[in-house]
Amino acid sequence: MICNFCYRACDIKEGGEGYCHVRKVHDNHLYSSGYGYLDALDIDPVEKKPLYHFLPGTKTLSVVEAGCNYHCDFCQNWQLSQSEKSSNSTFVTPEKLVELALQFKVPSISFTYSEPIVWQDYVINTSILAKKEGLKTIMVTNGSFSKESLKVLYPLIDAFNIDLKGDAAYYKRVCNGDIEPVLNGIEYMVEKGCHVEVTTLLIENIHTETIIKNLGKALKQRGVNVWHLTRFFPSYKMKDRAETSEKFLANMINIASASGIPYIYGGNTSSVYSTFCSNCKRELILRDRIDYSVRKESLRNLENGYCIYCNNPIYGVFD
Ligand code: SF4
Repeated sequence: MICNFCYRACDIKEGGEGYCHVRKVHDNHLYSSGYGYLDALDIDPVEKKPLYHFLPGTKTLSVVEAGCNYHCDFCQNWQLSQSEKSSNSTFVTPEKLVELALQFKVPSISFTYSEPIVWQDYVINTSILAKKEGLKTIMVTNGSFSKESLKVLYPLIDAFNIDLKGDAAYYKRVCNGDIEPVLNGIEYMVEKGCHVEVTTLLIENIHTETIIKNLGKALKQRGVNVWHLTRFFPSYKMKDRAETSEKFLANMINIASASGIPYIYGGNTSSVYSTFCSNCKRELILRDRIDYSVRKESLRNLENGYCIYCNNPIYGVFD
């Protein structure tokens, strides 16, 4: 049976499983082995996703099922992404999850930490219910959508943070993946009017100035407005590699800025990245040094999504 959740389109035989180890076939039935088994249920500032232009200053209910369709050596969340359903997980129905979000009085639910594309049946069922209750939905993803999943997900998900990990060679060599579905996914979601922010994890001595220049060009062409460049820390199969330095990050942010993408931020850094108006350059949204959460009073620098100083529209969803 063919799984249509991601671009890999695995053909799974009876008793077998797909590349992600999550999708399985039993009794001629294709199913997700960890459906509803959550390994984390946290309340985070939405800035931690990272999303800097989507309901800034609010909290989101973050949930995860184990599993991923990539096996990247540098994975920063490998305990969750590279496992199947764990013994510590808790079964939470979509109905219960929406009820919890309402109880916690958060405006959004985030599907995050591993790869929600491989557990999108749970994402879809929860999002349908969440929308009926006026909740927003967020997906933090590697962007390796199938054509079918793009069509199903875009009306149900309000905001995406999509990874763009490197160039085509990097996807092949480090992720055993393919850059094309990711770029197509970014383009599709931007065209459909979803809120999109992109993240690139920078590894020093792997990501070069040329790579960042080319990625910036590709994102700009696809209408991306917000790009996060985050520092790598040794993890999973890359524990022997040094963490990315602040100096390297700062240099890459300079290179990225030449792309013309109006909002570029550093992540996993001791520097504070505020949002500046792309027109008058005034500082609009200030963030906390420790957890990047927003200084609430600074949100008054925006009125209905416009800069109060020059009336420039700021990309994002602000209420
Ligand atoms: S989600 Fe992707 S990797 Fe997993 S079985 Fe389906 S097509 Fe294969």
